[in-house]
Amino acid sequence: MKNLFCDWDRIQLLVQQRPLLICLDYDGTLSPIAPTPGQAILPGKTKRILRALAASPGVFLAVVSGRSMPDVKSMVGLKNIVYSGNHGFEAEGNGIRFKLRIPAAYNRIVARLERTLRDKYKTTRGVVIENKKPFLAVHYRLADKNNIPNIRKIFRQTVKEAGAKQLIRTKTGKMVLEIQPSVDWDKGKIVQWLLTKKRSMHGGQNILPIYVGDDITDEDAFGTLRNKGITILVGRSRASGAQYYLSDTDKVHAFLKRIVSLKSAKKT
Ligand SMILES: [Mg+2]
Repeated sequence: MKNLFCDWDRIQLLVQQRPLLICLDYDGTLSPIAPTPGQAILPGKTKRILRALAASPGVFLAVVSGRSMPDVKSMVGLKNIVYSGNHGFEAEGNGIRFKLRIPAAYNRIVARLERTLRDKYKTTRGVVIENKKPFLAVHYRLADKNNIPNIRKIFRQTVKEAGAKQLIRTKTGKMVLEIQPSVDWDKGKIVQWLLTKKRSMHGGQNILPIYVGDDITDEDAFGTLRNKGITILVGRSRASGAQYYLSDTDKVHAFLKRIVSLKSAKKT
């Protein structure tokens, strides 16, 4: 994995030559990771850059997050961009509307699991359960480090006891465990869907996808866009399918700022 700025000549050329679909994760990519999800505010300077990007000719902007749709919308607070929530299970904005169909039986099982998990974690400090509809998330960022294996064990056991393997699957993110519908869909699938949709909405233009994210769930998008676009991991602490890395959210801001100046300087 290379530092993106070390390959800037190549990136600059691509950005100037082709229209862009820029897909950005939210937590840890646009906003620094905070102790609780509610505290992960979008920095003002980043919001200004996103607004400028959305207004730039030849730029389509999407924020693709694991947060619920209303949550990610209110955290970013901009019009004229595409939002995708729950790891790509939903998307809307800028002429886009997408929602994956969820079986009613799944919703019933998750309602039951939520009650059981709330009961089991009642005395565990630092665990926050969030029903993101249709996802159910168990956040443990505030928990005692020594207790994390136990928190994970309770989660695994409870899900196993629910015995609905065909309907639910679990995913591990940064300091979060999630129950999701067992559907073959992820951030990679929604990014491909958005790319196809945008290309057809805009006369088959050769749009270049750029994806920036820091989480394990972003690896699906890195895999989908391998050899098709520019993939960027935020941080460099782990092995990744991304081509490039940017070390933190400030570097993401710097990268987006460069795109704004390239796109406003030269029309594509
Ligand atoms: Mg993230």
